[in-house]
Amino acid sequence: MIISKEKNEPVEVRCPKCGRTQIVYIPKEEIPLCETCHVRMVISELLDEGKST
Ligand SMILES: [Zn+2]
Repeated sequence: MIISKEKNEPVEVRCPKCGRTQIVYIPKEEIPLCETCHVRMVISELLDEGKST
């Protein structure tokens, strides 16, 4: 069963240390830790895919 009423926003998160980026969907997914540095990644950009009227 797919929860379609939840509105998940794709955001680009970036590691403040090494600069690697990853796309996560919030609020469904948590902001991940950098696999390399093990520090909390920060939101770098809000993406706006699938915008519908
Ligand atoms: Zn890193």
